[in-house]
Amino acid sequence: MSELLVSGGQVLLPDLSVERADVLLDRDRGEIVDVGDVSGGDDELDAGGGLVIPGLVNAHTHVAMTLLRGYADDKPLDAWLQEDIWPVEAELTAEDVRAGATLGLVEMLKSGTTALNDMYFFMPEVVDAVEESGMRARLGYGSITVGRDDDAAREEMRDGLAFAREYDGAADGRIRTAFMPHSLTTVGEAYYREFVPEAREAGVPIHLHANETTDEVDPIVDEHGVRPLKYAADMGLLESEDYLAHGVHLDDGEVDLLAERSAGVVHCPASNMKLASGMAPVQDLLDAGVPVGLGTDGAASNNDLDMFDEMRDAAMLGKLAADDASAVDAETVVEMATRGSAEILGFDSGRIEPDANADLAVIDLDAPHLTPAHDLVSHLVYAARGSDVRHTVADGQVLMRNREVTVFDEQGVRERASERAQALVERTE
Ligand SMILES: [Zn+2]
Repeated sequence: MSELLVSGGQVLLPDLSVERADVLLDRDRGEIVDVGDVSGGDDELDAGGGLVIPGLVNAHTHVAMTLLRGYADDKPLDAWLQEDIWPVEAELTAEDVRAGATLGLVEMLKSGTTALNDMYFFMPEVVDAVEESGMRARLGYGSITVGRDDDAAREEMRDGLAFAREYDGAADGRIRTAFMPHSLTTVGEAYYREFVPEAREAGVPIHLHANETTDEVDPIVDEHGVRPLKYAADMGLLESEDYLAHGVHLDDGEVDLLAERSAGVVHCPASNMKLASGMAPVQDLLDAGVPVGLGTDGAASNNDLDMFDEMRDAAMLGKLAADDASAVDAETVVEMATRGSAEILGFDSGRIEPDANADLAVIDLDAPHLTPAHDLVSHLVYAARGSDVRHTVADGQVLMRNREVTVFDEQGVRERASERAQALVERTE
């Protein structure tokens, strides 16, 4: 058995208390063996002066969209997608997606993220990039039927299912899949009715965008006479393993429906603010018992994949949305970004205790903006940055040591992504 000792640090425990402790990891099984006054291990990772936290879990992103970071900003969702994003995405190649995804994974590793959920195109490329990264992921092909004839639309849905079936359990189980129809407005009702039962049969969860903007809610109410999540439930969506991104515009009945069914919501505060989509009722969702996770969405609408930024945004926006400074407090946000997201994705990560997945990050506390240390949970949400992460470990493997990514050549990854992004934009214009 090969073991790694994360030594000399303080540790954020599952009850969010902080204790001076060492953490012993089994690298073969990828699990935490012991936490406390432990010794041993054939390798050691120095956490001295640091805080060991569960690896952050980015529960909604489009990781290859790093190529479009800063390409088009300052527009509402509809215009932004139609005028800028979709025309460029139509030119994307498999190689572009590989380069963009790899860049995004490097960015995540450098900011303490150990697991992600990704919806995009050319997903076998994302599978390869995630496999190489050592991270954990739930992946799916984002099927879209609007603007396609019936044959092409059905092929889109079949492609999504085929991907989910083929790659579930890849990379020794680090990769799981989901069926990912893009949203309630970009996939037609007939296709949901035909393919949702097939996804159930395949045994994969369903992930989609829902209730992101009022422009997305109103047409469903007009056409079907019910709120979007009622429409979704009528089509067989919102089982307990399913999870939706955004959930910004929800009425009380929809919050209750999510709670009854235990379907998850992935909150994406930065994207919601940047696209002026609105303020998700996060405290209401939590109070109702809805599972809530946290995600960055794609880099084009954020514009980074740093979950520390996202935690701060979640706390700030949650207070504004509730008109209450005590809403969405620091403890709640840390839970959301760790165990909350992990549970939604079906990973036994997000907690540092024996038998959990060995996914963690070590935060360097030796910095002016983290001094003094009254409350380290507060620091994680309100003061720390992704660049404070010293080491990142997933599945028991050290993926970044002393800020050096061990699984990719960072410089090469950045150069390749820059070249690809430049060529992509030139092809589009
Ligand atoms: Zn999204």
